[in-house]
Amino acid sequence: MNLSSDQQIRAWFGGAKRILMVTGAGFSTGSGISDYRSPGGIWERYQPVPIQKFFVSHEARMRYWQYKVETREEFAGAAPNAAHRSLVELQSDGRLLGVLTQNVDGLHQKAGISEERVIEFHGSNARVGCLDCGEEAGWDHALKQWESENRPPTCHACGGWLKPRTISFGQEIPISWMERASQWARSCDFCVVVGTSLSVAPASEYPRLAHQMGARVLILNRTPISGVQWADRIVFGEAEERLPRWIRDSVSGPD
Ligand SMILES: [Zn+2]
Repeated sequence: MNLSSDQQIRAWFGGAKRILMVTGAGFSTGSGISDYRSPGGIWERYQPVPIQKFFVSHEARMRYWQYKVETREEFAGAAPNAAHRSLVELQSDGRLLGVLTQNVDGLHQKAGISEERVIEFHGSNARVGCLDCGEEAGWDHALKQWESENRPPTCHACGGWLKPRTISFGQEIPISWMERASQWARSCDFCVVVGTSLSVAPASEYPRLAHQMGARVLILNRTPISGVQWADRIVFGEAEERLPRWIRDSVSGPD
């Protein structure tokens, strides 16, 4: 029997029991969050501040917070889109193993994915914490200091530097996250990569690992990606248009 590409993918979704999602910027552009790396993206407007610079330079801390405060609105106001919501259906269906995301917007959890099913490889912009004692400080506290004193905010408990809980360049990703991600990659039967060009490690490594362990791999991205000939299928399109259709059919049965 010859199935069309779309029918085939629906069948894959329908037959999968342990689905691992790997999501990147393209998953959230439908929610109005900029893609950092594309033309006009955040890294064209702001220069990233590596963590080592943040620690030693007042100027770098000022520049970093300036950028965080200016881009905050975009994050604070964003709502999950149809693609985020469709993953919640998979979760309710008991077939979502986990979500590995490069996004820092917290929209997977906002949509209703439980905290323990999400690994945020680049951290989270939804929270602010102390780099010294780990104290959770909150955006309100940090913003108040930034605005009233015009300086990088500090921890009320120990005086250390506060920073959103994103992983900056040069900042280490906790080993425990990578262990869990690798466990998911080894045990999934279907790995679905959406909205990422798989150019940034370590998130980029898990779909390949899943493939090597025998899982089927589907990639959905807006633009072509190089070096992924091993994937079972590559589809070009928008996350919020394709994904909900594929998933809805697999959850409630095809029309
Ligand atoms: Zn502290």
